Amino acid sequence: MKVNIDPAPENRVDAPLGAEVDALDLRRTWHPFTQMREYASLPRVQIESGQGCWLTDVNGKRYLDANASIWTNVHGHQDPDLNTAIIDQLGRVAHSTYLGLGHEPGARLADKLCSLTGLDRVFYSDNGSNAVEIALKLSFQYFQLIGQPKRRRVIAFSNAYHGDTFGTMSLGDCGAFHARFDAWKFSVERISAPVCDEFGGEVISSSMVESFAALDAVLDSLGDEVAAIILEPWVQGAGGMLLQPRGYLREVQARCRKHSVHLILDEVFVGFGRCGPLLVGSEEGVTPDFYCLAKGLTAGYLPLAATVTSEAIYAAFLGEFGEFKAFFHGHTFTGNPLGCVVALKSIEKLEVLIATGQLASTITAFDTFYRELRTELPETFKLRQRGLASALDLPAGDANQRRGMHFCIALRENGVLLRALGDSLLIVPPLVISSDEISFLKSALLETLRSNAYL
Ligand SMILES: *Cc1c(COP(=O)(O)O)cnc(C)c1O
Repeated sequence: MKVNIDPAPENRVDAPLGAEVDALDLRRTWHPFTQMREYASLPRVQIESGQGCWLTDVNGKRYLDANASIWTNVHGHQDPDLNTAIIDQLGRVAHSTYLGLGHEPGARLADKLCSLTGLDRVFYSDNGSNAVEIALKLSFQYFQLIGQPKRRRVIAFSNAYHGDTFGTMSLGDCGAFHARFDAWKFSVERISAPVCDEFGGEVISSSMVESFAALDAVLDSLGDEVAAIILEPWVQGAGGMLLQPRGYLREVQARCRKHSVHLILDEVFVGFGRCGPLLVGSEEGVTPDFYCLAKGLTAGYLPLAATVTSEAIYAAFLGEFGEFKAFFHGHTFTGNPLGCVVALKSIEKLEVLIATGQLASTITAFDTFYRELRTELPETFKLRQRGLASALDLPAGDANQRRGMHFCIALRENGVLLRALGDSLLIVPPLVISSDEISFLKSALLETLRSNAYL
């Protein structure tokens, strides 16, 4: 099949701006996680601006940003406080390197992240995959530095997603997404987390027993060869919003301590209020060896990530230069000051949302919406939800029908933007979604289900 490419914009005299942007997008760009032939053959949206929970396209149509711009947005678009923080910093400097130089936004954000996590040191990067990659490399190097080079193995979970670099693909369990690169991945010890029922209440108890049996079996046989265990606490997002029971994390931590294995919490998705608490680890009373933070860290404004760790791990890297104990890893935009100021301002605002109970009431409204969906939708629809992380699975069908994707395209006509994962609609709104916006979302979903013969 030949992809039909519109004429170059400069060759079209009277094309409206929207069509021009779309044509250029189609001619010149390559979108992530996208079959571009399919993309070219379907209606496309070019975003021009945002305000609160809404995005507006180049033709002036408004949409509710129901996946928070891939799970990042916290306070809405064009938040005046966040905008001001960035503009003020722009008046000083947009970027200066973190390789051997420091700056106030980096120092202040690091201090804030340490007080939130109960840890001591922050290593910045610029995306979630890197935050995980860094935790992993720090763990491996730490065990070499303290004379335990045999500790090289990693325990990771079924259905895990930690990013798309080689290290994080190795940790992940994303089947079709990454299978093509199996030949270049390192092997991990794979176990399953226990699973909850759809609203995160009842634990399917056999899954708890099986999970601990598997974890204990690995630790008992290989414990002194394991460097780290990595998990996404509470909700495996990209795995399809799979819910773990509360308290599971504490049990995992206890086993890590017993076997001197590092605990890496990948809170790239669940961190910063997504499920209620600012951080799931702190909420569970767990202090891991590493926190990996990104997505909501900058409220969805700028690419910044952080790997937070302990003084004990940091101290192992100290020595004379010639001992080559330094951590030789860094990214050009590590610690970008614009990212740091917006993160600081976002956390300050998020603490207010939590302290005033505003986030809790938004979550209550979202809970109610899901419970109503449960009573209004047939059992063939599966639902999962904790806090503002959720999934609505369309009734099982043939994967090649691309029903999730087609549903999302139809949903746009009703003013809602979502991205499907197979037949699963992952609904992850900005943390400031209002009850009116939740009602709008519900009507749009039900209307689209009806007009597409699902109801
Ligand atoms: C998104 C995500 C990542 C990867 O972050 P990127 O910024 O896309 O590299 C890692 N872990 C989890 C849990 C995520 O949701």
